[in-house]
Formats: sequence, C-alpha cells, structure tokens
Amino acid sequence: MKVLVINAGSSSLKYQLIDMDGETLLAKGLCERIGIDGKFTYKPQMEGKEKIDAADYPMPSHVEAIDAVLKALADPKNGVVASMEEIGAVGHRVVHGGKDFTASCLIDAEKIEAIKKNFPLAPLHNPANLLGIEACQKAMPGKPQVAVFDTAFHMTMPAEAYTYAVPYEYYEKDDVRRYGFHGTSHRYVSGRCIELLGRPEHSKIVSCHLGNGSSIAAVVDGKSIETSMGLGPLAGVPMGTRCGDIDATIMEYLMGRYGYDMKEMMNILNKKSGVLGISGVSSDFRDLEAAAKEGNERAALALAKFGYEVKKYVGAYAAVMGGLDAIVFTAGVGENGPATRAAVCSGLEYLGVKLCDKRNAERADEHLISTDDSPVKVYVIATNEELMIARDAKAIVKG
Ligand code: ADP
Repeated sequence: MKVLVINAGSSSLKYQLIDMDGETLLAKGLCERIGIDGKFTYKPQMEGKEKIDAADYPMPSHVEAIDAVLKALADPKNGVVASMEEIGAVGHRVVHGGKDFTASCLIDAEKIEAIKKNFPLAPLHNPANLLGIEACQKAMPGKPQVAVFDTAFHMTMPAEAYTYAVPYEYYEKDDVRRYGFHGTSHRYVSGRCIELLGRPEHSKIVSCHLGNGSSIAAVVDGKSIETSMGLGPLAGVPMGTRCGDIDATIMEYLMGRYGYDMKEMMNILNKKSGVLGISGVSSDFRDLEAAAKEGNERAALALAKFGYEVKKYVGAYAAVMGGLDAIVFTAGVGENGPATRAAVCSGLEYLGVKLCDKRNAERADEHLISTDDSPVKVYVIATNEELMIARDAKAIVKG
C-alpha cells in the first residue's frame, strides 16, 4: 500500500508519498505561500525523474495545493504512481487532539467535529490541519483519511503529571491540563530505542526532541508518563524563540511596566524569547555556536542555559521513572549538535551516563554515543514522523 502523508500549516503544506511495502519514500515536497502567490516543490526519489524547485503555482487555497501534489505524483513523465488509485490512504498530522483523541483514527464527520471542538486549544495549528484534510476529501472522495495527533502519545500520563495546580474546575469545564506535543516523534524514537536496547518489557527512556521547538518525554515500557510541553507548546525547556518554563509573574510585571496587552506579551514569549531572546543573535544553534566561539558571551549563555534546562529534565524524569536505561537525542539540534548533547550529558555520570566523545562527534542517522561500559545507553536517532503517520494510516485502513 502507498500512503500519502500530509502536514498542513496555514500557508504551507508538506507531503510525502511512502510505499509501505518496504517503507520506501517515493516522493516528497512542499507547497508554500498558499493563499499568497504559491510555490511548489516536488522531489521524486527515483532515478531519472525530474524535480520541481519552488516553482510558481497559483494556490489560492489548500485545495489547489493538494491538486498540485496529486498532479505531480501521477505525472506521466516525472510522477511516481500510474494513477491516484495506487494511493491506499492519506495520513494527516493534526497537532492537538485535546482530551478526545488517545490514538490515531479514521476521519469521519464525527471526528471532524471533535477536531473542530479542539480549535481553541491550538488556534494556529488545528484549523490549518483541517484545511489539509478537507482539501484531500475534496480531491480524493472516498479515499480513507487518517488523523495522527501530536498529543495522543502523551495521553498515557498519570493524573499527577497532567494536572495543573489551578482550580480543578478549569480541568473539568475547560480541559486545562498538560497535553504535550511532538508525540509522534517521541513515539518513533523511543520505539526504535526499545528495539536497540532489546528489552521491550522494561525500559526507562528520556526522549529529547531538540529542534526549533523542543520537548522532553519520559517513556516507561513504551508509554509516555511525563513530558515537558503543556497545554500548549510554550512550556518546558527554552527553545529557538519560545521561553519554555517561566514564572507567570514575569508576565504581570512586564505588562504593568510596558503596557503590553496579552497578545503582545504572548508574541514576546513565543517569538522573541528562548535562545534568541537570551543571545540577541539567532534562534539557530549553528549561529549561536559560531558566535560563542568568537567570544559572544550572551550566545554562550544561551547555549549553557539550554543544556542546563534539558539536563534538569533528564534528572527530573529519572526521578519520576525511578531509574534510567537510555537517553535519546533527536530532531535538528539533537541529531546534529554534539556540543549540546555533551552539555546535557556532562555531570550525569552519577546517574550512569558515560558519553563517548569520539562517538558523539561522529554523524549517523542512528548511533550509540555512550561508552560500551556506560550503564545508561545514549543514542542519536533521526526522527521520522512521516513514516510513523504512514504506519498508523496503513494499520487503521487494514483494520
Ligand atoms: P523544527 O522544530 O522546525 O522541525 P528542526 O528539528 O529541523 O526544527 O531543528 C532545526 C534546528 O536544528 C535549527 O534551528 C538549528 O538550530 C539546529 N541545527 C541544524 N543543524 C545543526 C548543526 N549542524 N549543529 C547545531 N544545530 C543544528
């Protein structure tokens, strides 16, 4: 079966077509500037097929974007399928499943209503995800569509992990609780880690998804029991531009001093904070490392703060899991940033973490970076959320 994976944002749409017999990528690409002028990128993964690079393509809405994708995939010359009939299912990334979704599901009218009900929890993401779903329903009527939620993996958290210490009525009436994100990524890399450890029954893993947005998850025997993001993705460790955990008093204090309204305050915490906010240099770790090397003290402080906060989560999660078998690093910084990985692991020798400097400096999609005698295994595992979405879609469609 071939599965089309769609990750729709408000003005962009990423896609991959995966052949599930052998789990091979057939093509991937991106629609950008939807609703503006429209740019289309198509990258077939087969010899002799030509790619399309950010070509002009009018896309007033997600409907035209999906049309462009389907046309390219089934193009007689450069396509990778003979017709749309070869596509057995479409898998959609949906950011927030709220309390309603504990697993991936086949999309029907009822599920669409539930996704809409959760719009207030992810006002930027869920409406865009739904546009992608509706465009696919229009372009491929009757084709099974599956929703895969970023929050679903964390729905196994116990109440003491997901409950906030605010009046309980906000949980009961308004669904205020910790949800967590990056669930598909944490599920993929912790699953691979369990395979590498060779012990599916008993495993205590800290999964560190460190990218532009970052989150940490505690995964026991394959189930998430705690994660650093919360009701929304602003919580946890500092990120590229998001503040992570802060004292809420800071908001009241700054709003009082500068007369910011809530929108301005949230914009500062979402877009101007994190390692960008501390350094004043960049949200990109490569820029920060270069600036720190040249003696920029705030860039060095931003990097130190990031490593320190991730380390705090590793320690906290070892405590709540009652031990630690492995740490996994994934996503842009986790996969490509040996200095950040070293900063996180340094000082954790007392927990049994012994990083191998040589292995940590090497690059691979999947590798062990702890020493052979390290009681806690440390892995770098490249994440693959699209494959996870395609696997779920296949499993659900095949029943
Ligand atoms: P997103 O959350 O947008 O999916 P990614 O997981 O792609 O982000 O991570 C992007 C980040 O990865 C960049 O902002 C950059 O800081 C970091 N990154 C990429 N390559 C390197 C590298 N070689 N060294 C350090 N950091 C890197």
